[in-house]
Amino acid sequence: VKSRVWSRNYDEGVPPEVDIKPSPLFTYLDKQAAENGGRAAYIYFNNRVTYRTVGEHSDRVAAALREWGVGKGDVVALYMPNTPAFPVVYYGALKLGAAVTPMNPMYTPREVAWQAKDAGARIIFTVDVLYKNVEEADKLYHFDRVVVVEVSEYMPAIIKPLAKRRLKPPKIQYSQRVVPYKSLLSHSPTPYRANINPTEDLAALMYTGGTTGLPKGAEITHGNISSNLQQLKPLYEAVKRRRGLDSLVMMGLLPWYHIYGQVTVMHYGIFDGATVVVMPRPDIEQLMKLVQKYKAQVLHGVPTLYNMINNHPKAGQFNLRSLAFCISGAAPLPVEVAKKFEQITGAVLREGYGLTETAVVTHVNPLYGKAKEGSIGLPIPSTYAAIADPDKPELLPPNQVGELVISGPQVFRGYHNRPEENAQAFFHCCGLRWFRTGDMGYMDEEGYFYIVDRKKDMIKYKGYSVFSREIEEVLYQHPCVKEAAVIGVPHPEAGEIPKAYIVLRDECKGKVKPEDVIKWTEDKLAHYKRPRAVEFRDELPKSAVGKILKRELRAEELRRLAEQ
Ligand code: AMP
Repeated sequence: VKSRVWSRNYDEGVPPEVDIKPSPLFTYLDKQAAENGGRAAYIYFNNRVTYRTVGEHSDRVAAALREWGVGKGDVVALYMPNTPAFPVVYYGALKLGAAVTPMNPMYTPREVAWQAKDAGARIIFTVDVLYKNVEEADKLYHFDRVVVVEVSEYMPAIIKPLAKRRLKPPKIQYSQRVVPYKSLLSHSPTPYRANINPTEDLAALMYTGGTTGLPKGAEITHGNISSNLQQLKPLYEAVKRRRGLDSLVMMGLLPWYHIYGQVTVMHYGIFDGATVVVMPRPDIEQLMKLVQKYKAQVLHGVPTLYNMINNHPKAGQFNLRSLAFCISGAAPLPVEVAKKFEQITGAVLREGYGLTETAVVTHVNPLYGKAKEGSIGLPIPSTYAAIADPDKPELLPPNQVGELVISGPQVFRGYHNRPEENAQAFFHCCGLRWFRTGDMGYMDEEGYFYIVDRKKDMIKYKGYSVFSREIEEVLYQHPCVKEAAVIGVPHPEAGEIPKAYIVLRDECKGKVKPEDVIKWTEDKLAHYKRPRAVEFRDELPKSAVGKILKRELRAEELRRLAEQ
């Protein structure tokens, strides 16, 4: 290449390169348990759970899993909201060389069974209040073991009975196969640690739509995550320096089943010995209360969260001045939302970017240096980013729109058992292996990146990734549906909502209503994936080869919105 068109320079004392040592993740927990054992790793309903407890409990869980024969190459499913048990089990599995596959707690039994099968997970950990779903999933995909965590585990004794009364966990028939988490904690802690090759061995199989639409498992190694933690470190260190802090308090609001909260909060907390205030549900008032009470400095969220804080009637009543480092990712952050949030809180809110496949962050706007509105920022240390021709293995010069591509130690190994997808996802150029993000954008002269559109068919509903193809597949199962196409329609609160265009079979016309179709998807798709609007059409716009032209549907919707 004649000119270097990729960018990798952060500023404000953040070096372009950091010395990265890909490491087994459990070494970080071992270090915290040994050196900061008495420090609170988690605050869970006002209960302090120390690093010593997290380390010891994960050794006990590991001992139990080892007795069941879990070891290298095995996958353990995690189907639970944020609770201290999540990292305990996760790190317990890692210590044995096994990987985890986390699932969205909103998944239906069918979705749980599908992912468990695709990932090859033989053991699942869940919480009592979700147990019914696992029981159903178990009929579709027989698990070897089901471990049930009481939702009140790790809560203080006075809150436990209250939580049980309110959440009403079901009575569970325990057996050899279905066991309570508590019974695992009675094992003696194991000192065993698997021999890990960080750049090869899997830590997690993270399900995502990737670039083509259907969910697939992204193979994330110990090295991917540990590299990203080391790449993020200079940013968090800058906050500590400015605030004169030895350790951070972070809000654990983003769900840990998704790579964003999992890496930037759950793993980072352990890596750096931070205290994480754990929130199983995104309750905005509670969030503000907890930020104030524990003087949290770090908040990661999605644009809708910041918008909800801005519009909350009690926003002005809480002191949120402790917040120093707020990052918004997962979807575009409207400039007005960021400005208002900064006004209310006095915190700095910066937009960042990342994907499941890059475990996770690749770009952030400089925290104390020059941030640019509407930009996802600069590549973080030791990350190469460029704009490539979407169809050819070539990099493009600044200001030209093309596909955002990434190279760096955080880039995943590949999709699980999907050789064809892998062939499309990577290319080699200029001495580096590049991953195609499926996002279209450009880079300005100063190396800041901008996302303009998505190449892939993905809808962002309240920060959740929803894949139109998955909804379409379900819709096509309806006896009255002849054709279906789902697109994301801009929405003031949710960002985008999934809208389905449907052509009904002749015999059904006039007999089925849009609401009936939405209702019908309820037990087949998680809440956030369901179509929020359905429109019946006599036909759908098609290309010459018969491919449904979603871009025309999108253009129609945009015209309609502009006219409103
Ligand atoms: P996921 O794998 O679920 O984390 O989704 C990754 C996708 O989220 C990216 O490919 C983008 O399409 C989108 N995304 C993440 N951050 C941003 C951002 N700051 N602006 C626009 N889109 C984003």
